[in-house]
Amino acid sequence: MKKKDNSEYSQALSFLYAFLESISNALDVERNDLDGILEVNLDKNSYDILIFDNVPGGAGHIKRLMSKEAIMKCLRGALKKVSQNCCDEDTSCYNCLRNYYNQTKHSYLKRGLAKEIINKIIETIEIGVNE
Ligand SMILES: [Zn+2]
Repeated sequence: MKKKDNSEYSQALSFLYAFLESISNALDVERNDLDGILEVNLDKNSYDILIFDNVPGGAGHIKRLMSKEAIMKCLRGALKKVSQNCCDEDTSCYNCLRNYYNQTKHSYLKRGLAKEIINKIIETIEIGVNE
């Protein structure tokens, strides 16, 4: 994800929360047991997304994501989540990206931006192109 302005941050963050929701569904793990952060990657001028087990010692949930199939399943689930007509694409709601834990970031979460990047990522993985 290229980092240019606020909308890039917004997109990365929107993706992160769509993805986390979907991982929690796909792996049947409590949403609260997972968390993620964005880190600015200065070399690539983009954001890295880190997803981790949010429990002491780690529960090993994230390890179950280590296959292309599992990742694709989560991406498709995330896409479905942000493709509902629950709210305007320029915003987000509790049906798609918002939850209690990310309330400080609600203003950045935009359903349309998440949809756009998830589509791109799925496309890239399917074609098998890496950067
Ligand atoms: Zn919504």
